[in-house]
Amino acid sequence: MSFSKEEFKIEFTNRLEKQIGKNIADATIHDVYVTLGQFIREYVSRDWIETTTNYKDNHEKQVYYFSMEFLMGRLMQTNIINSGLAEIIKEGLTEMDFQLEDVYNEEHDAGLGNGGLGRLAACFLDSLASLDFPGHGCGIRYKYGLFEQKIINGYQAELPDYWLQEDYVWEVRRADQTIGVRFGGYVEMREENQKLSFNHKNFDTVLAVPYDVPVVGYLNSTVNTLRLWSAESCREDFNLLTSNRVDYDNFLEYKRSIEDISGFLYPDDSTIEGKILRLKQQYFLVSAGMQSIFKQFKLEYGNNLSLLSEKIAIHINDTHPVLIIPELMRILIDDENLSWEEAWNITQKTVSFTNHTTLSEALEKWPVSMVKQLLPRIYMIIEEINERYCRELWSSYPYQWDKISSLAIVGNDEIRMAHLAVVASYSVNGVAKIHTDILKKKEMKDFYVLYPEKFNNKTNGITHRRWLLNANPRLTSTINEAIGTRWINNPKELTSLIKYSNDAAFQEKIATVKKENKERLANYIYETNGIKVNLDSIFDVQVKRLHAYKRQLLNVFHIIHLYQVLTDNPNVNITPRTFIFGGKAAPGYHYAKKIIKLINSVATVVNNDPTIQDKLKVVFLENYSVSLAEKIMPAADISEQISTASKEASGTGNMKFMMNGALTLGTLDGANIEICDFVGKENIFIFGLTADEVLQLSTENSYRARDIYNNDYRVKNVLDELMKDRLPGGESEFKDIYYSILSNNDEYFVLKDFDAYAEAHELVDQTYRDRKKWLSMSVTNIAHSGKFSSDRTIQEYATDIWKIRPRLS
Ligand SMILES: *Cc1c(COP(=O)(O)O)cnc(C)c1O
Repeated sequence: MSFSKEEFKIEFTNRLEKQIGKNIADATIHDVYVTLGQFIREYVSRDWIETTTNYKDNHEKQVYYFSMEFLMGRLMQTNIINSGLAEIIKEGLTEMDFQLEDVYNEEHDAGLGNGGLGRLAACFLDSLASLDFPGHGCGIRYKYGLFEQKIINGYQAELPDYWLQEDYVWEVRRADQTIGVRFGGYVEMREENQKLSFNHKNFDTVLAVPYDVPVVGYLNSTVNTLRLWSAESCREDFNLLTSNRVDYDNFLEYKRSIEDISGFLYPDDSTIEGKILRLKQQYFLVSAGMQSIFKQFKLEYGNNLSLLSEKIAIHINDTHPVLIIPELMRILIDDENLSWEEAWNITQKTVSFTNHTTLSEALEKWPVSMVKQLLPRIYMIIEEINERYCRELWSSYPYQWDKISSLAIVGNDEIRMAHLAVVASYSVNGVAKIHTDILKKKEMKDFYVLYPEKFNNKTNGITHRRWLLNANPRLTSTINEAIGTRWINNPKELTSLIKYSNDAAFQEKIATVKKENKERLANYIYETNGIKVNLDSIFDVQVKRLHAYKRQLLNVFHIIHLYQVLTDNPNVNITPRTFIFGGKAAPGYHYAKKIIKLINSVATVVNNDPTIQDKLKVVFLENYSVSLAEKIMPAADISEQISTASKEASGTGNMKFMMNGALTLGTLDGANIEICDFVGKENIFIFGLTADEVLQLSTENSYRARDIYNNDYRVKNVLDELMKDRLPGGESEFKDIYYSILSNNDEYFVLKDFDAYAEAHELVDQTYRDRKKWLSMSVTNIAHSGKFSSDRTIQEYATDIWKIRPRLS
């Protein structure tokens, strides 16, 4: 199905009249957005049906990617570009006096995720569809996404993100496929014909209504599905009212409590709170998702359950959806009458698992009492899995009680979700080489000894379609002019750019693109923050969630240091810098919020001090999100990836920057290590402690932050600045930070890495003055970024873990 520009204009005008009831002359940009969105969604629906039917007809194995988070961002541009309509629509709209870019900006981000983990899930969906793989997302349709961040007087304030206020044009409600999810009640056990049966009684049923979002592949007619579940109360609940068992007020409250299950996304990406609502959300997702997959499976394969693991792969993104394991066991045993052994055999061959962190505060554990009460049957199954598994442990480690209890799934009245995930899945992967190594050698060492065959690495990736084609059209054209377009379907072919790394003409083109992108960001900064930034300054960017281990603090300390140097001697010759920050702090994470305040206080002082002659500017951009990231990445010169080595599992922001020609200033942590291996040491700025050194300092307990404070006058001056009143707020504002470093001994080695960091910054400064060298490094980074496309990552998951193949069309 294709159409001309003229046909598009006619169709578009008709729709606008019918849907919105307006003439094109009266249409607002928002009207245009809604009309265009509906048009595109309908346009892809034929391919959507065709793809779904095609998978079924060919009995393709399908993978379901379960994630509590999908940080999708906007979809208009992706869908237009992926379905090949960009030119016609752009020209058509222009002739009707609308700019496509303005239409893109009308879309509210789907912010159903916190950060890296949720964005990874979104990139994976794009790669699955673009590579023709039968792979779908399974998530929750939160009524409120991640909060909107406002900066008020330098402090973070949180506003609710009611992204559904305007109808979401991409979703289709499928009420006919509603599923019931059971909570509470009790289990009656009965023995019939020497077989135990389990009867779940007196439960509450919550309705799970699916909303499907099409996931459009790049120019390949494949359209997969992201299925998001919404919680609704049951029609039968009205009986409560008509039978006069509850009054109207209580009924409304009951209804609200049910809808709350898909009410909001928990806004913390690294510490778990044992909140019952969160547990409900997790079970709601996996029970609805698994039951729905199971229904589909039975329609296609009848009762041939032994085919399940051949035809279905279930992947869990971190431990959040791990209850899918007992849920699948429950369906197989209670509903399908399989024996425990048969059910376990199938489950173990179906579920695979990705670990995302080694931070201990992020390891999920649920109190036994909570799970028992909310999910009585699921708890029984977990207990049985644990018992059988502990018996196995006993045969490997007889009489080693301590070892067995430390490895058990249930212990200390808690369920250890990571243990359940490792024991019951057939594949456990980390997200970068170093992360997987740390899992094997340290964090999950005992499990690696038990199940070495399960462990594998899948280094994260990002979709180059969003992060290069969509976000940076100028760079995309420049690349296309040099090496053609084959790299788009095979991003590793970006390496052909290497031959241009020292080509003066190509370098200048890259420089022009960067300058234009910097100008665009500079305008945005002026509009939002009222700060005028110098386009010839180095745009030095750290955007990511605020967290102590990510060390935004190291960055601010260094800025304070530079400022002190300049106020002492305004004539010091440094390359002008614009330090750009962005990122949200979890609302309850006071320390991270203080760091935001510190950045903003430093910004106020630095930006308003005429004596330093605009050599430094500091900008905090509020509400870091996918759409903001798309504006920032193309304009960055320096990518700050400065986590304490061993703490960042992979990082994906680092890859987005690299692909857009920024140079990394980073520690040997996460995927920075692989970036360094690819571009070579001479094309990256690496500094600081290695992971081994960090782990050694931690175990030896030999680090003394105060010694550095006492011996390095720069460090002393910076810390002392926190306790003076040159920074607005002064001592009372920042003493928590001061004491976390000096009294609590600087858990993340900020002071220990300060000297190396400052030295690396000097090298950045020197290198930037050598324009040819800088541009050569930049081109080299772009050229090697293809390795970090999520197409490569997904290809690896498909072959090594899921055993799926591209569909035959
Ligand atoms: C990529 C991305 C992240 C992850 O960034 P890291 O630097 O890897 O922590 C977080 N939030 C958004 C909006 C992103 O696009």
